[in-house]
Amino acid sequence: MARWQARRTENAPGEFFVDTSCIDCDHCRQIAPSVFRAHRGQAIVFHQPESPQERLRAQMALVTCPTASIGTLRKQDLRAAIAAFPEPISENVYFCGFASERSFGASSYLIVRPQGNVLVDSPRFTKPLVRRLEAMGGVALMFLTHRDDVADHEKFHRHFGCRRVLHRADLTRATRDVEIVLAGRDPILLEDDLLVIPTPGHTPGHQVLLYRERYLFSGDHVWGNERGELVASRRVCWYSREEQMRSLERLLDVRFEWVLPGHGRRLHASAPNMRVLLRECLARLALGG
Ligand code: SF4
Repeated sequence: MARWQARRTENAPGEFFVDTSCIDCDHCRQIAPSVFRAHRGQAIVFHQPESPQERLRAQMALVTCPTASIGTLRKQDLRAAIAAFPEPISENVYFCGFASERSFGASSYLIVRPQGNVLVDSPRFTKPLVRRLEAMGGVALMFLTHRDDVADHEKFHRHFGCRRVLHRADLTRATRDVEIVLAGRDPILLEDDLLVIPTPGHTPGHQVLLYRERYLFSGDHVWGNERGELVASRRVCWYSREEQMRSLERLLDVRFEWVLPGHGRRLHASAPNMRVLLRECLARLALGG
């Protein structure tokens, strides 16, 4: 729970505040950009919500915040904010909210499909979200992009009986019991509409998931920024920069219109424009960007 005594002094006076435990995951700024902004490496409330819609977005940020760093002066009725997750992105693809500190606040996603729902990376295992997932058909498959964003995978597996997918090179003691262990560098057709593409770089076993040649669940391989660019970073490349480049180049042959990352901004563009953005991303990275 956020602590008023530890609130950031830069918050605009009023009902909502951010305290100093913020880990700068960016969720609040994406969910409620008219309320939260970045300031010296953390978030602050720069504008107190005025309309009911602004208040709802601020409350949705509050329930998503992985570190419970967003607080309010008075107790809030959060039922509408909780019910808003999973939040539709496009068609049958949803953002789960309820980020986990154990994955440094990474985004997780839900694909609702007749063959069985897919959870991409792990949200916080919390009753309100679990009930919503149950109402939406449960979870049949849990795709884990890489070892850093597995958070509460064990609890989701136990509750829903979902099979978990992870690359062999990213197995740890915490994930050694996952049901589907992939290996190698070649793309693997998991199901008719689900293609796994190994993308070593950020970690040795990083992999992305392509759904219907439209949605690329990109983990920490590539993401969007506020300027609408595609971005990859050498700074957060823990394993191999050479592999990271090769893995990005491999995506030039892949058709997709959405980038749905673990960290960073979502990006939507036509498939040809996405290829241009990817080329620009590669050029910046080659220059050391
Ligand atoms: S969601 Fe929470 S941890 Fe993330 S930037 Fe906002 S206040 Fe900080």
